[in-house]
Amino acid sequence: MRIGIDLGGTKIEAIVINEAGDEIARERIDTPKHDYKGTLEAIEQIVETVEKKITEPNNHRRATVGLGIPGSIKKHKKVVQNSNSTWIIGKNIKKDVEQILGRPGRVANDANCFTMSEARDGAGLGYGLVFGVILGTGVGGGISFENKIWNGPNSIAGEWGHNPIPWADDHINNTISTEIECYCGKKGCIETFLSGAGLVKTYNDLGVKSSASSINTPELIVKRFEDGDKVAQKCLEIYASRLARSLAYVINLVDPGAIILGGGLSNISYLYATVPELLKRWVFTSELSTPLLKNQHGDSSGVRGAAWLWP
Ligand SMILES: [Zn+2]
Repeated sequence: MRIGIDLGGTKIEAIVINEAGDEIARERIDTPKHDYKGTLEAIEQIVETVEKKITEPNNHRRATVGLGIPGSIKKHKKVVQNSNSTWIIGKNIKKDVEQILGRPGRVANDANCFTMSEARDGAGLGYGLVFGVILGTGVGGGISFENKIWNGPNSIAGEWGHNPIPWADDHINNTISTEIECYCGKKGCIETFLSGAGLVKTYNDLGVKSSASSINTPELIVKRFEDGDKVAQKCLEIYASRLARSLAYVINLVDPGAIILGGGLSNISYLYATVPELLKRWVFTSELSTPLLKNQHGDSSGVRGAAWLWP
């Protein structure tokens, strides 16, 4: 049995996969934010809970544990870097999780787990080189080639969320700041625009000008968009344009067989209807054929990929 855990900024999710590859248990709890010790205890608790579900009395079989985290493990110092869950930065989370669970664990970047899951038997199956994108609390990416994740010597392959947003925001000149500060210490990172918080900020910035009431979740923007709200329409138009420009960068660099979207914002169907057309304006070919696909395993992709960290 394999346990996969997805340590998100808001939720911690765990699943158990049996030998046949079927999911047999699942659990979800809130992430203790800004509390490293609490996060470790929550991981211990969720493993205990799912393990109870799968264990028969007097049969104390223990499953392998794979953990997907926002961020990655530094190669030499073995501590977490580049995490928007900033309270795990600088921590040896692999060692600490192994200690608290009393067994060896495997840890990987959450976008890599997502990409692995989709490339292995999801929307990316058969596309060779897959670029998996997480659009959620954070913005990250993973690169899989022939079902193998390319991690890179710095463990940062695919971390395109911390490149600057490409090409100027020509259609919204000066209406919205493009110099938003990112937790990484730089300004204008793709993540500050394409994350859930980035989308909400765009809506509220636009809303100030049209006195629309402010909102605090991406889901509400989508709801208002569906209800014909003009600010929400403009907001998603800008978001789609930014996503297209950001992905054009990736296509020009590695020309993936397919791009798979994941994370909460990947549920916005408007993106699949608009971004492929918008991409044509920015990529270095007049014959763009890169499919932009929605993930197949939904919210489960991250945890599935984490579970598959153990072969
Ligand atoms: Zn950044």
